[in-house]
Amino acid sequence: MTDQDQEALIECQCGKCALAVADKAATLFLRCGCVDCRQALWWGHEHGGAKPEPLPRLFYLRSDIVDVAGKAYMKAFKLRSTGKSTRIYCTQCYSVLGVDHPTYQNNVFLNFPDHCTNHGVLSRALSAYLNMSDYFAAVGFAPTEDVPLFASTDFAPERQRFLSLPDVAHSFKEPSGPPSGVTLGSLIQSLGAVTVLNLVEGVVG
Ligand SMILES: [Zn+2]
Ligand SMILES: [Zn+2]
Repeated sequence: MTDQDQEALIECQCGKCALAVADKAATLFLRCGCVDCRQALWWGHEHGGAKPEPLPRLFYLRSDIVDVAGKAYMKAFKLRSTGKSTRIYCTQCYSVLGVDHPTYQNNVFLNFPDHCTNHGVLSRALSAYLNMSDYFAAVGFAPTEDVPLFASTDFAPERQRFLSLPDVAHSFKEPSGPPSGVTLGSLIQSLGAVTVLNLVEGVVG
């Protein structure tokens, strides 16, 4: 069952690709300082996608996609074979439509609203700065918002502090029921083999 009033479109910049999500309200807003986010966004920019800002905005939406347009133009990529994030780009304009990661448990997926057109409700307040051990003054502007700031989530205590933030705990969990459409993980699987870019770790731009 879907409620049309709750749905929203995520579109690529060239208009070939779109995802309709069952629930338009973002569940979580983070800013991530990790070098992999920067590398993936810069790689897209080099192929025609939007120029990334240093501390990208990450919005999470329920991983329930009720309609897909332009699937023939979508391709799934990983930075390296060991990479955990799988990103769907439009192969015409190199917008990023969505990102999957095991931590999201298929309950949510990640979207960069500055790298596509996200018609969802993105009014949620910033919850945290993440992976700031990869971020330096030379990279970009200093964080200004008074929210938790995590150097990394490599170590259990810090990871636990991050995962226990209310919006994070509410997002990164087992789904409460099956999706009315498909998850981003299923969409990725249906796109065929994931292309591994084999980019050198930590080299951006
Ligand atoms: Zn496109
Ligand atoms: Zn990141």
